[in-house]
Amino acid sequence: MSLPATPHSTARVEVDPRDILQIDSLLSDEERLIRNSVRDFVRGRVMPGIEEWFERGVFPVEMAREIGDLGLLGMHLEGYGCAGASAVSYGLACLELEAGDSGFRSFVSVQGSLSMFPIWAYGTEEQKREWLPRMARGEVIGCFGLTEPDFGSDPGGMRTTARRDGDDWILNGSKLWITNGGIAGVAIVWARAEEGVLGFIVPRGTRGFTTRDIHRKLSLRASVTSELILEDCRLPKDAVLPGVRGLKGPLSCLTEARYGIVWGVMGAARSCWETAVDYARTRIQFGRPIGQFQLTQRKLVDMMLELQKGTLLALHIGRLKDEGRCAPELVSFGKLNNCREALAVAREARGILGANGITLEYPVIRHMNNLESVYTYEGTNEIHTLVLGELITGLSAYR
Ligand SMILES: Cc1cc2nc3c(=O)[nH]c(=O)nc-3n(C[C@H](O)[C@H](O)[C@H](O)COP(=O)(O)OP(=O)(O)OC[C@H]3O[C@@H](n4cnc5c(N)ncnc54)[C@H](O)[C@@H]3O)c2cc1C
Repeated sequence: MSLPATPHSTARVEVDPRDILQIDSLLSDEERLIRNSVRDFVRGRVMPGIEEWFERGVFPVEMAREIGDLGLLGMHLEGYGCAGASAVSYGLACLELEAGDSGFRSFVSVQGSLSMFPIWAYGTEEQKREWLPRMARGEVIGCFGLTEPDFGSDPGGMRTTARRDGDDWILNGSKLWITNGGIAGVAIVWARAEEGVLGFIVPRGTRGFTTRDIHRKLSLRASVTSELILEDCRLPKDAVLPGVRGLKGPLSCLTEARYGIVWGVMGAARSCWETAVDYARTRIQFGRPIGQFQLTQRKLVDMMLELQKGTLLALHIGRLKDEGRCAPELVSFGKLNNCREALAVAREARGILGANGITLEYPVIRHMNNLESVYTYEGTNEIHTLVLGELITGLSAYR
């Protein structure tokens, strides 16, 4: 007879090495349901094609509507056809998507957190009605233009300008490294006006607005990255997002998207770790599985520690976010830690796979290369370190 486990029971508790902290038990039924449906989507629809898309350097844009049908686009926003899911559910979706490929998580982050969120938070009722339902369905793809050729970590120096001409606005400048740029039907462009930095809704096809895709990337290959070019681009007065002025506009969007990264990178790390464990159990050298060597076991254990701690951290931040208690600095904490550790897990897994670690036959080097971008975009490792350094000391190292 097995006795129920009480605090003093000596009955053996089953341990799942893939969930040793029992994080699954901390999720609600609804959260598990969402997680499982995204996991199924990734297994059924992303995994069969990802190696080819990565190799060809394309994002399968035809899947945007399918992702929309799953309710993943703007899923944490309320109304206007958005799913209104919790922050934790959104995070779980990001994790499962990135276990497939960072390109898919980037697509969903940019659409929901960087393109739909500013319209939802700072747009007029007309702007929301015009754009959000179509974006939630994946009929219109959005992009977010903040970074410029000469201003990455320091967007406050941006040179893109917006000046009034009668009732219209005229935009000039260029934005670089813009995810989804070449496939976007609408761009959210941040530009410097007399009254400060403003956000503009720029539909594709507007005269003076063109895009040029960036090729030869060795990271995030299954994701479109582009330059946005604005040459005397004339926009009507209602193209501006009236609800925000100054850098806090784009920075608030980035906090939303970074939150998804805190979860997402743990998906990429999980895929690398699981691949390394399978490999170590079956690859024979010196007459034994390499997983039997103590050096390999130590690597697998260290990877597990970071993977589990990072996932628990993501859940903790998600719960605080759902309670309205998540400060941007906490998101910096999560982004800094989880990107750093996910990349370390991926590199360790790459080594465990030996020569097989460098081919696309296994997901590891693809994740590893992707994570190099995720480590850099939406605030580099250094910038988030400085955000936290300022929090601790009260002294800003970069202003
Ligand atoms: C694949 C990809 C997709 C992207 N998608 C988007 C997008 O959709 N929209 C968008 O607007 N941008 C996007 N970006 C741009 C991204 O946000 C920037 O690359 C990032 O902010 C860093 O800017 P940078 O590349 O100009 O590097 P820099 O700012 O030039 O930094 C170079 C190095 O210097 C360090 N550094 C800078 N300042 C300091 C400091 N004060 N102290 C210490 N170290 C410092 C940095 O940490 C980094 O290591 C994307 C980038 C990539 C690679």
